[in-house]
Amino acid sequence: MLSVEEALEKILNEIDTLEEESVPILESLGQVLAEDIKSDINVPPLDNSAMDGYAVRSGDTTGASEKTPVFLRVIDTVMAGSISGHEVVPGTAVRIMTGAPVPGGADSVVQFENTDEEKRKASAPDEPVVRVGILSEARPGLNIRKAGEDIARGTVALKKGNIIRAAEIGLMASLGYGQVKAIRRPVVAILSTGNELVEVDKPLTEGKIHDSNGYSIASLVRRYGCVPKMLGIARDEEASLVSKLKQAQDADILLTTGGVSMGDYDMVKDILARDGEMVFWKVRVKPGKPLAFGKIKGKDKSIPHLGLPGNAVSCMVSFELFVRPALLKMMGKKNLAKPTIEAILEDTVKNDAGRRIYDRAIIERRNGYYYARLTGPQGSGILNSMRLANGLVLIPEDRKMVNKGETVQVLMLDWNEEVNV
Ligand code: AMP
Ligand code: MG
Repeated sequence: MLSVEEALEKILNEIDTLEEESVPILESLGQVLAEDIKSDINVPPLDNSAMDGYAVRSGDTTGASEKTPVFLRVIDTVMAGSISGHEVVPGTAVRIMTGAPVPGGADSVVQFENTDEEKRKASAPDEPVVRVGILSEARPGLNIRKAGEDIARGTVALKKGNIIRAAEIGLMASLGYGQVKAIRRPVVAILSTGNELVEVDKPLTEGKIHDSNGYSIASLVRRYGCVPKMLGIARDEEASLVSKLKQAQDADILLTTGGVSMGDYDMVKDILARDGEMVFWKVRVKPGKPLAFGKIKGKDKSIPHLGLPGNAVSCMVSFELFVRPALLKMMGKKNLAKPTIEAILEDTVKNDAGRRIYDRAIIERRNGYYYARLTGPQGSGILNSMRLANGLVLIPEDRKMVNKGETVQVLMLDWNEEVNV
């Protein structure tokens, strides 16, 4: 049997990063930048005010206080988006709003709170502003945002390989980039196999169950920023499987569920093995022992294929352990691991299997420590154990038992705000 790490390494060795595409910036959320983003402008473009207030010459405010205001003549008002044509000469001020360019001659902005603005507004709201009382001294540069202080012209603002998040998209927008080159999102073909499976919108007849794996797997594919292509259900027979596999030919990777364990009708494994490029592994993990990996012929390249176990929980756990890192690598990402934390186990867990157990657990932080308690019955078909969980508790393969109160490693699936307890 392979360890989880060995199986993952073998898979990743066969996975290539996809090519780049040009996309509208908003579409690129979560993708990896395929070019340096250089700035040919200053952001902000001009020195501008960080406050609503009065643009002044700091030298004019020497000695200003609540008790000894300095009075200046107001010569203009300037709003964000406009330029004042007036020069602030000694003894004058320009009323200025946040974001408005600082007029010539001024070297600081005194915010309204440090002027007699409120008093003036209360006593003569409709009269034009001709005079302002300054109530505190201003030092040069006060409340002024310098041109280029966020991004200076000529600098590399974002590097090739950066992950594109909301801030990166905002930054590209501020530089005037509407399109960006990013590594393409993998198209992931998903095929459920099994004679017992029925589409979600079809009635169940005796002995049948709805295909749930197709949906949980497609949702994970979406969650991690890839594009699911659902191929539906294949019967456990050659013709059905072969015709479905043809539809995967223009995908970047194929995921199947079911048919890879040791049962008599686990046909997927026999049919795929016959074509050569498929290996079947037993991985020292629970749930998710059976795992198949190979390649199918695509239109103009070969397509990696991961055969996940059929049990609802096994296939989701296998996805997190093996498929997610593969997809992230295809997307050009470097950090392929989910966050792992240490938590105090609140149940005792036995390990008779000699495999690494990934038990579904609810992780909570209390008094500065993380605690992990199991979500109830841990059968590999009990999807509810997964639904309630925000983490997977690792029980090492070489431990027969881990006791309540011991510290364990937990692979975090979600943080608490996304958990339905
Ligand atoms: P298999 O790996 O094909 O032997 O399937 C193992 C178990 O998972 C069986 O109980 C199947 O009925 C169940 N199963 C397989 N595929 C699916 C699916 N797409 N949705 C829900 N359950 C499934
Ligand atoms: Mg089956």
